[in-house]
Amino acid sequence: MGWLADWRRRRVLQKHRIDDALWHRATAQLGFVPKNPKLRELALLFLAEKQLVGAHDLKVSDAMRVSIAAQACLPILELGLDWYAGFTGIVVYPGDFRVQRREIDEDGVVHEWDDELAGEAMPGGPVVLSWDAAAHDPLMNVVIHEFAHKLDMLDGLADGRPPLHAGMDGRAWQKAFADAFDGFSDALERGRDTWLDPYAAEHPAEFFAVISEAFFEDPRETRRRYPDVYDQLKLFYRQDPA
Ligand SMILES: [Zn+2]
Repeated sequence: MGWLADWRRRRVLQKHRIDDALWHRATAQLGFVPKNPKLRELALLFLAEKQLVGAHDLKVSDAMRVSIAAQACLPILELGLDWYAGFTGIVVYPGDFRVQRREIDEDGVVHEWDDELAGEAMPGGPVVLSWDAAAHDPLMNVVIHEFAHKLDMLDGLADGRPPLHAGMDGRAWQKAFADAFDGFSDALERGRDTWLDPYAAEHPAEFFAVISEAFFEDPRETRRRYPDVYDQLKLFYRQDPA
């Protein structure tokens, strides 16, 4: 982003702010959201540049907007808003939503089915969220999850590996995540209880999104159970929440 975007952002910050009462109301239930004035500024810029729309007649209140913005901006707190370039829309459904899936298998047979989702992130497209899941599901953080997918997709591939910073070691990333993913999938296959959401075993991209939720929501436990992954996430997000 060039000088024009910088200028616009400076103006937004000069002329607007998220007032204290609204911020506290929106983040009261979110114990993992740090009391960092920088996060509030970033959330304000996020709301100025992104378009949040309600689907199915959902009225998106200011508190909902700020709650989504605060959580979405946590992963990019030290990266900046340009890491969410390439899309503006965030669609909020009142609850889980249905999407139609279509796949052609290797024999050329078309399979169609419906999926119920709490969130979805499409390459180059909007982020879609279920407000019910965002507000009430204690087992997942759908906002951090979908925005982590957006970071992963920045290089065009949802493969569990976002574009790494200069100086990061791609092989160290690969090894930390592959070992963790394999160990996790193995534990799940043996029927063991897992700390992370079992959905993480679906694909390395899901593992990255799920462990990113854990990194921000329960960083100490993430560091204890997955120290190598924690170190890589610390380098990537440029944060050490534990
Ligand atoms: Zn996902």
